[in-house]
Formats: sequence, structure tokens, C-alpha cells
Amino acid sequence: MQNLFDVKDKVIVITGGGGVLAGTLARYFVKQNAKVIALDLRQEGIDALKANCPDVDGFTANVLDQASLDEVSAKIAAKYGRVDVLLNGAGGNMPGATIAPDQTIFDLQLDAYDKVVALNLKGTVMPSITFAKIMVKQEKGGCIVNFSSMSATQALTRVIGYGNAKAAIDNFTRALATELGMKFDGKIRVNAIAPGFFIGNQNRALLLNPDGSYTQRGNQVISKTPMGRFGDASEICGCIHYLISDASSFVTGTIIPVDGGFSAFTGV
Ligand code: NAD
Repeated sequence: MQNLFDVKDKVIVITGGGGVLAGTLARYFVKQNAKVIALDLRQEGIDALKANCPDVDGFTANVLDQASLDEVSAKIAAKYGRVDVLLNGAGGNMPGATIAPDQTIFDLQLDAYDKVVALNLKGTVMPSITFAKIMVKQEKGGCIVNFSSMSATQALTRVIGYGNAKAAIDNFTRALATELGMKFDGKIRVNAIAPGFFIGNQNRALLLNPDGSYTQRGNQVISKTPMGRFGDASEICGCIHYLISDASSFVTGTIIPVDGGFSAFTGV
């Protein structure tokens, strides 16, 4: 019987591969015998990933620079002959685009806001267009998975720029699924995951004290998470595995929360 979850030999490109979630996915899919190519702005991020998992291929690339994306996509196409999957893991926040508890909307730094919106929105749009160009020429097409957030559909305090961009990612996911689905024989699928709260480089100080106990915000998050804990990075692998495999062959334009119930719970 066909194994719906077989991803052996799939060529998987992961942006932000030097990061916590994308790096975890890179290591996981290598173990599933896929061909994994990690892209990151930071060479040290790629180096650390490769030190841990030598079978990952890696290139430095900037998801906001078309020349960089063209160069790396040409290298990948030449080396592997195809791209089956793109995971848009590059993203993140920066302090100026947030509103600290002692600040108001009038303190928002619009230059930082622009940078955060660019990284989280255009940093997904540009690689999607770049690698979809390869996918549409392939008989079997391909699939794309974007990274949304809890801040896309609920107004989380502090992270206004990031939340605005992630809301646009939800819209882009539906729009790209529609565009590519309708105009390229339904052979490209586009979905997103909306991770809840996983301890990563960007939010560690916000959620955990140096002694590992929860900060006030950490406690707020946990109290709105029915499962009562933060996610472990490895817990996004199963959902993404489903989304890039034949198990989800009729699934496109969806945004799946992986959040311990955060988005389902009103807090009451
Ligand atoms: P991370 O900061 O660990 O990794 C992000 C990676 O992107 C870094 O290695 C960074 O160098 C890279 N990057 C930044 N700018 C880049 C650019 N211009 N070009 C190429 N690479 C670039 O982040 P993470 O916590 O693993 O998050 C991964 C994705 O998941 C992000 O989109 C994030 O917004 C989203 N997300 C994370 C969480 C969480 O709890 N960690 C929750 C919701 C959504």
C-alpha cells in the first residue's frame, strides 16, 4: 500500500535554516531521507546546523534580495535538478517595531516597523515566487509552507509590526494557493502553519527568566494555552510533514495552528 507520508528524496529548501524552528525541520527531514537545503542570511547559522547535521546542504542567502535568491535558486536547480518543497522559515521581530508596556502606539518606530514587515512578508513572498518558478515547470509541481503566528488573528500586545506582517502571511497563503492552484493545473499547493509559543532566540528573554521560570508574559501565555506548556520545536515537524506529503494532496490555502490550543481558548 502507498505510504502517504513518504518524503524520501524530496528536495526541500528551508529559508531561515540557521534558526530554531527551521533548523529543527532541516534535521528532521534529513532523518526522513529527504534532500534538505538550508538557506540563511548568517553563515554561522548554516555552519552550526551542518556541524550538527552534516547531511544538510546549506547556502547563505538573503530572502529580501532578489539577486541573492536568483543566484542560490540557480545553484540548487543545477545541483538537484528540481525543488519539491519550500519552507519559508525566515522571519522574526525587532525591538523598535514593538510597543513596550510603558510605551504607546505613538512610540512605534516606523523604520523598524517597515523592516519587520519586509522580513516577515516580502521575505516569504520573494522566495515563494523564486522557487515557484522552478516548481511550475515540474510535472509533479511542488508545495510551499509559510510560517504564520498567533499574532496574525489575535491582537497580541507588544508585537504590532510582526502581527501585521503575519496577518498578511495568512492572506498571502490563501492568495498564492489560489493563484498557483488555478493557473498551474492544481499541481502547486500552498499552506501555512501558525505556531503557538515555542521558546526561540527571539522570544526567550520575553517568556523565560534567566533561572528558567516564566516571566509575567510567559505566565500569561501559559494561562491561555490549554495544554499548559510551551511547545517543543520538534512538535512542528509532524504538521509540516503532513503538509508536504501526499497525505495532504487535496489540502491547499489552509493555515494550521500548532499551538497547544492557544487559538481555540478565549481565556475564560
Ligand atoms: P529564529 O530567529 O530562530 O530563526 C530565523 C532565522 O531567519 C535566523 O537564523 C535568521 O538568521 C534568518 N534570517 C533573518 N533574516 C533573514 C534574511 N533576510 N534572509 C535569510 N535568512 C534570514 O526564528 P524561529 O523562532 O525559529 O522562527 C521561525 C519562523 O517561525 C519565523 O517566521 C517566526 O516568525 C515563526 N514563528 C516562531 C514562533 C516561535 O515561538 N518560535 C512562533 C510563531 C511563529
